[in-house]
Amino acid sequence: MQKAAFLKEFCYGVRIVGHDDGSVLYSSLPQTGEDFAPRYPDADAAAGARAFGRGESERSVYVGRNRESYEITSVPVMIGDARCRLEMIQPRRRVISAVTGGPANVFDGQEYLSNTIEGMLLKDTLTGLYNRRYIDESLPAAMSAAYESGQPLSVIFADIDQFKAVNDRYGHIAGDLVLQHVAQLLQKKVRRTDSWTARYGGDEFVICLPGVDAASARRIANRLRVAVMSERFPLEDGALSLTCSFGVYAMEQSDFQLSAIMLLHRADENLYRAKHAGRNAVV
Ligand code: GH3
Ligand code: MG
Repeated sequence: MQKAAFLKEFCYGVRIVGHDDGSVLYSSLPQTGEDFAPRYPDADAAAGARAFGRGESERSVYVGRNRESYEITSVPVMIGDARCRLEMIQPRRRVISAVTGGPANVFDGQEYLSNTIEGMLLKDTLTGLYNRRYIDESLPAAMSAAYESGQPLSVIFADIDQFKAVNDRYGHIAGDLVLQHVAQLLQKKVRRTDSWTARYGGDEFVICLPGVDAASARRIANRLRVAVMSERFPLEDGALSLTCSFGVYAMEQSDFQLSAIMLLHRADENLYRAKHAGRNAVV
């Protein structure tokens, strides 16, 4: 129950369901179990219903009262002697219905689809930040724009310090939640309209700052460093403190032949120096 109460901060909803009889023992949502029943002929939902009850953690799709779909990750837990399942509920993007449903307004439909496709292709599924593909596509464009306009461009490479230890100590699910939390924090703290924050992979993030010179980028990175260091990341049995290291690189006009990969590499070299300087640092 404690775990469920903690997890509801991060999920749309959490339930604990009896393994044998399907009774709902705890729910952070006002809805009843009925609301998430696979009530439409939906292959995913049927598969989800079949999956329920097997040994390990499972992901399944359920359809809600208003045809919205939910992805439910369910993990076996013991409550006293009773075998139960902890269900974490997240709203799910409705890509298939958008394609087959034929929205009445074609323009809205196209906009909806392009947003959805952008969401699928260019966003990281765990954190909701832009992903590596977005970096690969957008960084060269930002570099060309900076070169043509003569404006500065800075990139920040951020990497959580000793993140493996978080996984080792608290498990991967808690590690994922911490990653989401760090991602949101970084994104929230970089508020410039033309900048973007992306997950490069693992515990590494890239922040692109058009119009920002080296000194300002270092100030921004330092602000992020202090924000991460000051944050308390909630965990089941307390809260965790973390630090993050930052490598900053500002493109110079003489860098006009530099590829996006090399620009990132320069920022990554500085990140490496920040790690070697003892971590929780900006270089
Ligand atoms: P350092 O200070 O040198 O960065 O140490 P570190 O432990 O953070 O080492 P490193 O950055 O090399 O390792 C990143 C770890 O992040 C490795 C892996 O266990 C973890 N990780 C990568 N992707 C994910 C993920 O999606 N979820 C979770 N929970 N952990 C991840
Ligand atoms: Mg790390």
